Parts: sequence; C-alpha cells; structure tokens
Amino acid sequence: MLHKGGCHCGAVTVEFTSEIPPAEMEVRACLCSFCRKHNSRALSDPAGSVRVTIRDPSVVQCYRFGLATADYLLCGRCGVYVSAVMEEAGKHYAIVIVGALDEAERFDRPPMGMDYSAEDEAARRARRRARWTPAEIITL
Ligand SMILES: [Zn+2]
Repeated sequence: MLHKGGCHCGAVTVEFTSEIPPAEMEVRACLCSFCRKHNSRALSDPAGSVRVTIRDPSVVQCYRFGLATADYLLCGRCGVYVSAVMEEAGKHYAIVIVGALDEAERFDRPPMGMDYSAEDEAARRARRRARWTPAEIITL
C-alpha cells in the first residue's frame, strides 16, 4: 500500500509504502520536547520504503537537535512537520509523521508513548537502523 502525503503547500512530499494495513500499524508518540510541541505521531516499517521529495529546497528546513543524528524535515513556508531522516553509511532511514499523510485518519491505533531519552548515540542509531523505514531522499 502506498500512502501519500507531504506538507500543506507542496514544498516537500512523502510516499510511504508498507504491507502493514494502516489500522494495524504501530503509531508512536515520542515524548521528546520537539515531538511533544508538535504533538506528532510517527510511523515506520523496516520492511517498507519511504521516498521524500524536496520540491522546493529554498523553504524546506532540516532541523537538528539533541544528539543531532537525524534531520527533522519541516516546511519553512507552511509549517508542517513531515518526516525525520537519519543518514548512515550512505543509507537513509526515515519515519513519517501521521498528520502529514493524506489519509492520516486511517492510522488509528492508540499511540504508544516512547521515551528514548536514555539512549546514547550508538543506541539511538542502532534502534533507527532496526526500526525506521529505508528511505530515499530526492531533491528537485
Ligand atoms: Zn509547505
């Protein structure tokens, strides 16, 4: 199943492919201060794929904080938080933010609160390699 989404103005789009039915997909609510401020809900499927297409690089923001091991992709024009991406050894791994998907309401499992604050950098990277979705980032 292909799930399309992106920011509101179209500067960044995302396509998330997964064989897991939306109603069965785990929805995670990270408890870090950034995710709480966005009230964001995240999806990933290590067996799926994500394609992020940056259509207007002049406005898309890559925000880093904490251990600075991932880029949090936000649209600087319309304000939507779309995805977070980690790059490692030339590979990308991503989560997709539920609210940025066109059919967000289909991902209706109760969110699981996740506290990753005890992780060091190695643990954080290892978890993302194992759990985030293999991703391709295209800048137009
Ligand atoms: Zn936008």
